[in-house]
Amino acid sequence: MLDSASDVPVQKKVSVVMKKDLIFNEIEDLVPPTLLSKQSGSFKFPIKLSADQAEKLGMGRDVARKPIHHQFKVVLRICRFWGITFDLDYYIGISAITINNSQLIKFQNIDQRPLDITSFLKISPLAENLVFLDRKSASHSMVIAVYFVSDPTAAAIVRKVIRNPSQFLASDWTRNKLSTVHPEEGVLSSEFSLVCPLTQKRFEIPVRGKNCQHLACFDAHSFINLGLTTQKREWFCPICNAHVLPGDLVVDGFCLEVLGKLKSDGDDSTKIRMNPNGEWSPVRANFSTNVVDIEESSCLAK
Ligand SMILES: [Zn+2]
Repeated sequence: MLDSASDVPVQKKVSVVMKKDLIFNEIEDLVPPTLLSKQSGSFKFPIKLSADQAEKLGMGRDVARKPIHHQFKVVLRICRFWGITFDLDYYIGISAITINNSQLIKFQNIDQRPLDITSFLKISPLAENLVFLDRKSASHSMVIAVYFVSDPTAAAIVRKVIRNPSQFLASDWTRNKLSTVHPEEGVLSSEFSLVCPLTQKRFEIPVRGKNCQHLACFDAHSFINLGLTTQKREWFCPICNAHVLPGDLVVDGFCLEVLGKLKSDGDDSTKIRMNPNGEWSPVRANFSTNVVDIEESSCLAK
């Protein structure tokens, strides 16, 4: 039984979770989050595109890229619903999804990710698209939603992160943390790496997750690129493996400042040495000192 109108709290709760995790911009509901009770059978969802959405879908195709890149997409999400928590993109119990008479996918081997249904749709504001969902078992409730989204490039996501003041950490914050890392006996100074663990190159835009407990950074472009190109669109911190969405990134102002100075000096150092007084200096290759590895330090709770 469809229950979209009678359970507003469910819609609100699921909507927030589903949209946050998508990372897309300009998300519009085509089928708002709709609760399917514990019933098996076939469920029908009509989708109608507005003139603006149809135009965007038609014009936003980049056929020069292989596979063809769609700047705008229509994605379908199904979640198992536990009343309070959700399992996102959960397809067990569904025997088929059919869109305009084409079966979308076989469910034996499906990955946990939103389903891109763009290529199955009639791209016209005059046409009605029909999605049929068949449930063979109904041991749990589920929520289905269909969204019209713009699929940003990695560069666009990074720009958004950089321009968001709440995602920027002032340089004093890290400087103070680095200066107050307690050196162990005999340790003269601390080193801080400027190398992204994803590329092994010096990072351009140093970031970490807002809840990460480490000071070490990774490069924003590399992180976003990797997240966009992995099939499941998984977002994990390459240092501590915590779940980090692009909206959870913070730019490290101190590290950015250090990189700017090194660049202007034509210095390609990939490490700096941090002194307790808050001053830093680049570590040249073959420079040897007794150091504590800040990246491994676990006493950095914010
Ligand atoms: Zn982390």
